Amino acid sequence: MRFLEKIFQCISEYALPTACIICEHHQKAAVCNNCLQSLYENALFNYECCRQCGISLDASEIEEQHCKQCIANSPYFDASYCLDRYEGSLQDALHQLKYQKRLAYADGLAKVWNAIFVQQLPDEKATYLLPVPLSPEKLALRGFNQSWEIARRIDSGSQIKKMPYTLKRQHFSGQQAGSKRTDRSLSIQEMFYVEERHLELLQGHSIIVFDDVMTSGATLNEIARVLKDNGVKRVTNWVLLRTSKPL
Ligand SMILES: [Zn+2]
Ligand SMILES: [Zn+2]
Repeated sequence: MRFLEKIFQCISEYALPTACIICEHHQKAAVCNNCLQSLYENALFNYECCRQCGISLDASEIEEQHCKQCIANSPYFDASYCLDRYEGSLQDALHQLKYQKRLAYADGLAKVWNAIFVQQLPDEKATYLLPVPLSPEKLALRGFNQSWEIARRIDSGSQIKKMPYTLKRQHFSGQQAGSKRTDRSLSIQEMFYVEERHLELLQGHSIIVFDDVMTSGATLNEIARVLKDNGVKRVTNWVLLRTSKPL
């Protein structure tokens, strides 16, 4: 964080009470200690999850550490780490960010990530972190990319360079939310590409892709396919919220 931003944050935390992004209780921090503690104890990362796609595992899958779906049809990405379930206590805060355009929630969500999740993540030795991009049309409509607004504020270590403009997304006019899963998988082909100036940079490197929500995994799988087609060695997903079943 830049020096001036830090000073401003210190002053505002001291002078202005703020509401916890989860329980809305007024106190000094973006997230209150009770909510942090509850997340720390109950969030998805506390449970046995598939090493590859991050979904929580059935008892029968725990020995393999992979879900049946990843074993039957291995995705292009190598690993996924998800902070919490989509159905959990952070969903409202993410909606405030995405749909009410309240950017302060990106700061709060990143603070949750930094406070309770950073130490759970294995050392990835990745070179770059790329947020899942929005299409130019969607970006113009929303005004910001929520994945990047969270990703830019998380602690990823100084060796990982955050690159917001490396991955590009074409506009797709279909309504993703209402479409069936198979339609969605088909519609995302050709949706992502790598900025031409950055093609060389990625060769042989390990990459982290950051997304706010992982649902079927089809979007992240397509991104991993594109990255690996362009010479990337390993792709790891870092995800804020994971749906327990494909929506
Ligand atoms: Zn709270
Ligand atoms: Zn899996």
